[in-house]
Formats: sequence, C-alpha cells, structure tokens
Amino acid sequence: MVPVPPAPDGTPRPGADSRMRAPRGVVGASIGTVTTTERADVVIVGGAIIGSSVATFLAARPDFDGRIVVVERDPSYRTSSTTLSAASIRQQFSTPLNIEISRFGLELIGHPERFLAVDGATPEVDFVENGYLFLATDAGLATLEHNHAVQRVLDVPVVLLSPAELVQRFDWINADDLAGASLGLEGEGWFDAHALLQGFRRKARSLGVVERTGEVVAIERDGEQISTVLLADGTSIIAGWVVNAAGPRAADIAAMLGVDLPVRPRKRFVYHVEAPVSLGRAPLTIDPSGVYFRPEGPSFIAGFSPRGDEPDPDTLDLVVDRAPFERIVWPALAHRVPAFDRLRLLDAWAGHYEVNTLDHNAIVGPHPVLRNLLFANGFSGHGLQQAPAVGRGLAEWIATGAYRTLDLSPLGYERIGLQRPIREINVV
Ligand SMILES: Cc1cc2nc3c(=O)[nH]c(=O)nc-3n(C[C@H](O)[C@H](O)[C@H](O)COP(=O)(O)OP(=O)(O)OC[C@H]3O[C@@H](n4cnc5c(N)ncnc54)[C@H](O)[C@@H]3O)c2cc1C
Repeated sequence: MVPVPPAPDGTPRPGADSRMRAPRGVVGASIGTVTTTERADVVIVGGAIIGSSVATFLAARPDFDGRIVVVERDPSYRTSSTTLSAASIRQQFSTPLNIEISRFGLELIGHPERFLAVDGATPEVDFVENGYLFLATDAGLATLEHNHAVQRVLDVPVVLLSPAELVQRFDWINADDLAGASLGLEGEGWFDAHALLQGFRRKARSLGVVERTGEVVAIERDGEQISTVLLADGTSIIAGWVVNAAGPRAADIAAMLGVDLPVRPRKRFVYHVEAPVSLGRAPLTIDPSGVYFRPEGPSFIAGFSPRGDEPDPDTLDLVVDRAPFERIVWPALAHRVPAFDRLRLLDAWAGHYEVNTLDHNAIVGPHPVLRNLLFANGFSGHGLQQAPAVGRGLAEWIATGAYRTLDLSPLGYERIGLQRPIREINVV
C-alpha cells in the first residue's frame, strides 16, 4: 500500500487511516452476501476517458505505487459518452482555466507518443486540425469579442473575422445575417475518441492498473471517510480513495453517499449526413442557432444543444429522435451553407452530456467533508478534451496532496454548496 502523505496544512490525508481498517457496519447488507473482499488504494468508478486518464496518470507517477482498481459496468463502452461524442477539441472557451485545460489536452492528443506509448506502439488518434469557427449575429457579437479578448490574453491563436473576411476564407458560407466570426488558427480539431480511450486503457494496464467489470451499487462511509465500495456481484473493495468518474451517472454515485451532485444526463443527438459538396478543410462550425457541423471524412456530422427554454429533460435512454434533424438541424445547416440544401441523412446516434446545471463546468477534486471522495464530473459536453488535464491533476492530488502543474481548485465542489458558478459561455 502506498503511504498517504499529510495534507499541505498538516492534517492526515484522507484514506491514510481508514483504508486498512475493516469496514464497519453494513457491508453486504444492501446487496446480500459478500462474495469477495479486496483492497485498493484507489477505486475509480467508471473506466471511460476520465477514469482511464486518472488511472494512467496516477499509475505513471514514480511517487505512487499503490493498487488502482477501475470498476466499469459496461466494458464494451458502447453507451459511454466517450465513444458517443463528437470527439473534438478547442481552445475557444470563455473560462481561462478551460483554455489551460484544453491546452494540455491538445498536447496529449497531438503527441500521444509522449504519454501513451506501450512497447514502442502509440495509439493512432488521427487528429484533424481544422479549427473551430464560432459565428455570431449582431446579438452575439459582444460575447464573441469578449471571449476573443479572454483567449488572446492566453495567446490562443484565434482571429476575429468580419462577414466579408469570413466569406473570403470560406466561400461556401452564407454570411448575410452574420456580424462576425471567431476562427481558431491552430490547436483545434477532432480525433478518434475510441482510439484515445483504448490508448489510455492499454497504457493503464501496462502500468499495473486493474480493470474490473462490475457495477458499483453502494458505497459505505465511516464518519468522514469512505471505507468500502460494493459491487453488484457481491464484491466488496476496501478503498483508500474513490474517484467518481461515472459520467452521466455521476449523481447516482454521489447519492450513494448522501451527496448532492448537480450533474444531469441530457440527451444529445449526432446526425451523420452526406452532402453533394466538398467544403475542403472546413472547421467545426457553430451557427448562432446552436447547430454545429463538421466534416467526418467525406461526409459530415451535425448536432445541436437546446437553447433558452427548449425542453432538455434528464434521461438515460439512448433512443434516437430524427425529428429534430428535420425541424432544427437541417434548416439551420441549409441556411448557413446553401449547398446543404441537398443533404441525405445517413444515420444518427444519441449520447449523454453530463450537464452541470450550476455552470456548465466540470466539478473536480475532493468533497469538502468526505475528503477521500474525488469528483471528476459535470463536463457538460467538453470532457473528452479535458480528460488529460483532469487525469493528471487528480493523480497529483492523490499522490502529493496538491495540484502541481495546473491549479484545478477553482473547479472544486465547494462552489456548488456556495452556489458560486464559474459559468462557461461557450458551450457547444
Ligand atoms: C453527442 C456528444 C458529443 C460530444 N462532443 C464532445 C466533443 O466534441 N469534445 C469533448 O471534449 N467532449 C464531447 N462530449 C462530452 C464527452 O464525451 C464527455 O464529457 C466525456 O466522454 C465524459 O467522459 P466520462 O468518462 O466522464 O463519462 P463516460 O464516457 O460516460 O464514462 C462513464 C463510465 O462510467 C461507467 N459507470 C457509470 N456508473 C457506473 C457504476 N455504478 N459502476 C461502474 N461503472 C459505472 C459507465 O458505464 C461509463 O463507461 C460529447 C458528448 C456527447 C454525448
């Protein structure tokens, strides 16, 4: 077992005195007979991109030699947000910390060989660096300019374009009703999420991380410490730390401990379309209507997030609805790109955003009371690109008791209780 260092203020680190203790109370009572008991320094609930990233960065640290167990209910990952996402990365955020977080995401996605090589083999994540293009009407221009100013302070390679400049660069666009646009010149694009996930998992396994198929159904606490994680198959894992990486189901995991987490599963559709036109190296384009599209090989994918008071119910189903394509997506696409008038819908899928209803930003780090519970939740549609920085940050926290490279503490759970949002405006 790895020693758990004291916290910076000298108080014992969470898990330091609890994890070797036999769990008190009702272990197994909620699930019938306990069939196996094991111990882990770190139990990660959910093994998709966030869980695998935390596991990889932690296992790679020379100052950590503890046992890491990743528990995943669906090892096919077919229903995870990770494999159902649009798999894109940008630096055009409105929150400076999100820009820094994506910057490290870019470093890893652009250079997976530096982080994920195993026996000389590197995952092929196929990064397509076409940029993001945010479009604005008069109503959105001030926000676009505000975000641009935030981004330029951090040297993000981004440029504001007038409608005329926009059309000069992208002659396929209808700019009649636009007031301006913001284009990322480098460091933005899309990649193969499945390859990235498999790359993280392979790296984690090569470093000794244990992947376990199972569903976490209960978590026991012992005062202000989590003591035991219980699986549906009766396994009981005495845990030093527990990382909640359960994506859209994160609030269910928190609720097992009586903790309220304002993360809700919200369905998002991705429509895969064919158009009788090539737009060259088109960027991922975000229309003022909220509809976005980007090339996907020779075809395109498109989607939208509900705006204003449009319904956006909590749901964990993955049933695809094609009606919004006809009603919302296609009209917006055809308006913006006249050549899209003749689209053909090839297929469509649904996935879940894990929406932080307070401020559309991630919730990362320890619970203020249950200090050996770590959150990595609420990414609200940008978790894939944030996985590298969040994994690295939580690994630092577990191993050393502090964030060392990038201070993620503004994203801590405390702001939830205080109702102090750090609102991300650029949500796609
Ligand atoms: C349509 C769509 C488009 C997106 N586009 C982008 C994008 O372009 N760029 C970007 O950065 N992000 C994007 N995202 C968001 C991104 O996909 C997510 O933020 C990210 O994948 C979250 O990763 P995760 O590991 O936290 O969650 P998930 O990938 O959902 O993984 C959570 C895992 O936890 C497991 N789990 C849950 N409960 C339990 C339990 N009780 N026991 C054991 N295991 C459990 C699940 O089975 C699952 O595998 C998009 C999402 C969607 C849906």
